[in-house]
Amino acid sequence: MPGFDEARETILARVAALGAEVVPLLHAVGRALATDQTVPWDMPRWDNSAMDGYAVRAADCARPDGLELSGFVPAGSSPEEPLAAGTAVKILTGAPLPAGADAVVPFEHSDQRGGRVVALRPPAAGANVRRRGEDLRAGEVVLRAGSIVGSAEVSLLASLSRPSVAVVRRPTVAILSNGDELLEPGEPLAPGKIYDSNALALAAAAKRAGATPILLPLARDDRGSLSRWLSDGLRADALVTSAGVSVGDRDLVREVLRELAVEEVFWKVDIQPGRPTAFAVRDARPIFSLPGNPVAALLTFELFVRPALRKMMGHPSPERPLTARLGEANPRKPDRAALLRVRLERAAGELVATSAGKQQTGLLRTMLRADGVAVLPPGERALEAGQAVSVYPLRDGLDLGGEP
Ligand code: AMP
Ligand code: MG
Repeated sequence: MPGFDEARETILARVAALGAEVVPLLHAVGRALATDQTVPWDMPRWDNSAMDGYAVRAADCARPDGLELSGFVPAGSSPEEPLAAGTAVKILTGAPLPAGADAVVPFEHSDQRGGRVVALRPPAAGANVRRRGEDLRAGEVVLRAGSIVGSAEVSLLASLSRPSVAVVRRPTVAILSNGDELLEPGEPLAPGKIYDSNALALAAAAKRAGATPILLPLARDDRGSLSRWLSDGLRADALVTSAGVSVGDRDLVREVLRELAVEEVFWKVDIQPGRPTAFAVRDARPIFSLPGNPVAALLTFELFVRPALRKMMGHPSPERPLTARLGEANPRKPDRAALLRVRLERAAGELVATSAGKQQTGLLRTMLRADGVAVLPPGERALEAGQAVSVYPLRDGLDLGGEP
């Protein structure tokens, strides 16, 4: 039975980035570029002014009577004539420098009277000039495939006149619940029945990971129903089921998957909760059979399914866990990793993880309070307060109250 790290590594080794699709820039945000991006021209494209002021030849500025004002280059225009010796042209920020000019005297460092410009402080050659290609060079690979698109990448691509870009596809994730006790939320309640919360919860987690969830209809505890919906689910890029993977005699999911030519890679991971998690593949598609318990289903999704989906989306490496110090001593299991639902706070520049409540797997209340899940490695002795542990966030945009 693999331990926590081995299970994650095994999963990641069996999934690969999906193919590319071209999307408008704004749809690319948060996604991985599918191809390297090369700059087609020098950036900036020409020497240009960094200030509003006067384009000059620096060497001319020593003249006590100043320079004759000979023209104006507003932004968006291009100077037609070279700058004649002994003259200056008014220029606005970003406008191309006329040939011959080698410096810009900002308005605030100049005096203008009777059509002549005097530089109050003579500029050095190159002052307030942005040189052609000083930012990026034509032919340079400026972004690598796998880079995640943020606002700076959007800025670059837009400035290269690329309104759309090839990014790695989002995986579709089919989600299947099964059990004779389950009702769809919204159906009338009936004795002995509970509502299927896993399907929507796992779909929400898939969405948070950036994937596209597909909800399958509820499967029942019989082979026909399972086989019908599992085969449907195998058409998606990934399949996630919950329940029916323990050793109960109605736990048929693994059996039916095997009949569908799915290769089981492992069943059970040395963790608590979440032990009866199975991982399988068919034609490079990952299949995760998660425990039915709603808390265990969500925790195993975040720890095992999410990194796989991120890799399929082209993220270069799975997200690294946060490191936090335990706020209190915690018992451990001698033989397997314990998943502890924790709250996170920042204190004296460090993250501190404290228990989010009673840790029985059945308690959704603790999950509602949790910011993350700490993985306590197996060991004989309790972990002391202050010891460092890995914590996987369960929420986006955690506001950890860092010092401003
Ligand atoms: P099982 O693995 O089928 O024995 O399920 C384990 C526990 O999780 C049982 O108490 C189930 O009722 C519960 N459970 C299974 N599937 C779901 C679901 N989709 N939504 C909520 N609870 C579930
Ligand atoms: Mg069941």
